[in-house]
Amino acid sequence: MIKKLIILGIDGMDKDVVVRYKDKLPHLYGLMKKNGFPHLTSVFPADTMPAWSTIYTGMDPSEHGIINFVNVGAKNNTYKPLVFDDSAFKGKTFWDVLNQHGISCAVILPMNIKEGWEINGLMITRPYEGKIRVYPQNRESFYNPRFDILGTEGKFTSEKDLAGLRDEFFAKVNEEIRLTRLAIENEDADVLFSYFSTTDGIQHDFWRHCDPNHPEYPGSNEYGNVIRDMYVAMDEYVGEVMEKQPDTPLLIMSDHGHGARPVYTVRINELLRRGGFLTPKGGGDGSKPSAKKKIKKAIKKAALGIVKGIGLPKWAMKLAKKFPVWKSLFASAADFDWDKTQAYLSDLSALKNYSYGGIRLNDNVADKDALADKIIEYLKPVKIESEEKNLFEWIVRTNTFYHGPYLNKYPEIIYQMDERWGGEWELGKNVFEKGGFMYMMSPGGHRWRTAVLMTNNLKLEKQNYEMTDIYEIIMGALDQ
Ligand SMILES: [Zn+2]
Repeated sequence: MIKKLIILGIDGMDKDVVVRYKDKLPHLYGLMKKNGFPHLTSVFPADTMPAWSTIYTGMDPSEHGIINFVNVGAKNNTYKPLVFDDSAFKGKTFWDVLNQHGISCAVILPMNIKEGWEINGLMITRPYEGKIRVYPQNRESFYNPRFDILGTEGKFTSEKDLAGLRDEFFAKVNEEIRLTRLAIENEDADVLFSYFSTTDGIQHDFWRHCDPNHPEYPGSNEYGNVIRDMYVAMDEYVGEVMEKQPDTPLLIMSDHGHGARPVYTVRINELLRRGGFLTPKGGGDGSKPSAKKKIKKAIKKAALGIVKGIGLPKWAMKLAKKFPVWKSLFASAADFDWDKTQAYLSDLSALKNYSYGGIRLNDNVADKDALADKIIEYLKPVKIESEEKNLFEWIVRTNTFYHGPYLNKYPEIIYQMDERWGGEWELGKNVFEKGGFMYMMSPGGHRWRTAVLMTNNLKLEKQNYEMTDIYEIIMGALDQ
């Protein structure tokens, strides 16, 4: 039995989605209501790996450094997936710190942790290099975590296999719940933390099937309630925990919200070009496409056709992540005259068409802060085409936002645009384009402001929380 605190971490659970389905989610909605609907804002960028790192350590991403922006302006293509090992976390996570104070912890399937380590309590790792590890090892046969279920990512790869993909997500959540339930009932520990992965993935893959307002909504379909049902699965389990441990403090949070990936795109580099901050190769307005650019366009068009026709979200996304050749289709350093270019869109939102992103300044800029301020002043008043609304919700110099030692991993300027609009790399006649690309491959996307935060038997002191506060909430809950 868990004595002092139960923490359930639910990847990508969105506050607005809980409200949308509130009639089916009495426990989640009830807890949110009880707490006065507190706000929880994710880290920047609102991605899974940096956000959980922040929850574990209380440090923001500029402090823990688990972030990855690709600098497409780098002379040689330095695209690398984010690499880190357990040494980034060992000894620094809330459960390690609690252990140091004599508080035992059960940690179930923690995101970001690879091989795991021996702790005072229990740790069951996520699948990593073909294995799920249990510490202490003699508990392995008791839990028997199912690698065949939890380690299946990417088995179903095409639109035809959506039913299989859906079933895979539900098998996974059931296994995550089974392990958590066993640990809550059988571990004699003070604190339990369990991580649930499936809300995020299912929203990425099924958003357009569940959202009648999405431009790619296929009409009434057999997957129309898949996202709701995943939330229901979590809701029922939260209800079970509250029923079985009615007096135990309970903390539930997500790492970021989730919604439709923007389907409209805005050409940030084109805006920069018009402001005189970016010069295409060969000068001019870049309207005379080079042969290479034409080829790129043709490939992109063909890829789009394939995506629309047979659909291949999973493997296409994986390819885009893994192979620079895909990245170079969308964002190529060869497009610009680098001697005359001062600023350009950071990879982040160009590749993902997210509404948040950054602008990087060229290495040859002498006073970067002054230039950043000038660009911000230029972009701030930009209005969305044929609307009175500003495009940028906020746009700031990154070193006024974060201050840690890994700040140099960030572009110099970061921004959040209107959520309908995603960043696009290419130059063109129109700045605003009501047509994107990435949303077809992965229709769901992360949101920054709408993570969830709920508690039971644990008072929240504020109305607005940052992801960096979670660590303090955990420590505070155990002080009493
Ligand atoms: Zn995600």
